Amino acid sequence: MAATSLQELFVEELRDAYDGEKRLTKALPRMAKAAESEELRAAFTNHLRETERQIQRLEQVFRTIGEPVRGKKCDGLMGIIEEGKSAMEELEGSVRDAALIAGAQRAEHYEIAAYGTLAYFAELLGNEKAKDLLGQTLDEEKAADEKLSTIAKSKVNRDALMSMGGEEDEEMPAQRSTRGAARRASASRATANDRSRGGVRGNAGGRRR
Ligand code: FE
Ligand code: ZN
Ligand code: FE
Repeated sequence: MAATSLQELFVEELRDAYDGEKRLTKALPRMAKAAESEELRAAFTNHLRETERQIQRLEQVFRTIGEPVRGKKCDGLMGIIEEGKSAMEELEGSVRDAALIAGAQRAEHYEIAAYGTLAYFAELLGNEKAKDLLGQTLDEEKAADEKLSTIAKSKVNRDALMSMGGEEDEEMPAQRSTRGAARRASASRATANDRSRGGVRGNAGGRRR
């Protein structure tokens, strides 16, 4: 049914968010299981708990407007989750962790956009209670996104940079020098990603472990 008013659009967007959160409660346990990093696994498990509370908040919002609690297939998150699945199947170790973070951050950004809009619609519609509930979730999604950035920058991406398709240390010389550079990067002035840009210099005599 096409929405003809902001109120109807608000309900449509709520249903989309509700379906998205439901999908994430199924995806997050799989992502936690697939994560190698202890910290990343904990972040996914923690966000699963938050997601369960976010679902309850959406149910409260439906109640504030006297609408039945109902989801409507969220194609956006479904696609993001689908992309993440192939990463889980095709990659391993810290590179898989880096891919899990990349996918999870896409999901968080999608949710940040959705809840930012929903909270603003609630405000426009004069629904203070809904605005407050949706704002709480918006803050959680932002914090989850930041947490993932922190994990990526502190360890996962650097590990991924150093792992060349397995635990083997015998790789192309150019890669060895990059890894040396990454190892020296303990002071976190630059992320692994920043570093890799300027990084690959041929150096047959590069450092070894
Ligand atoms: Fe969420
Ligand atoms: Zn959606
Ligand atoms: Fe989220």
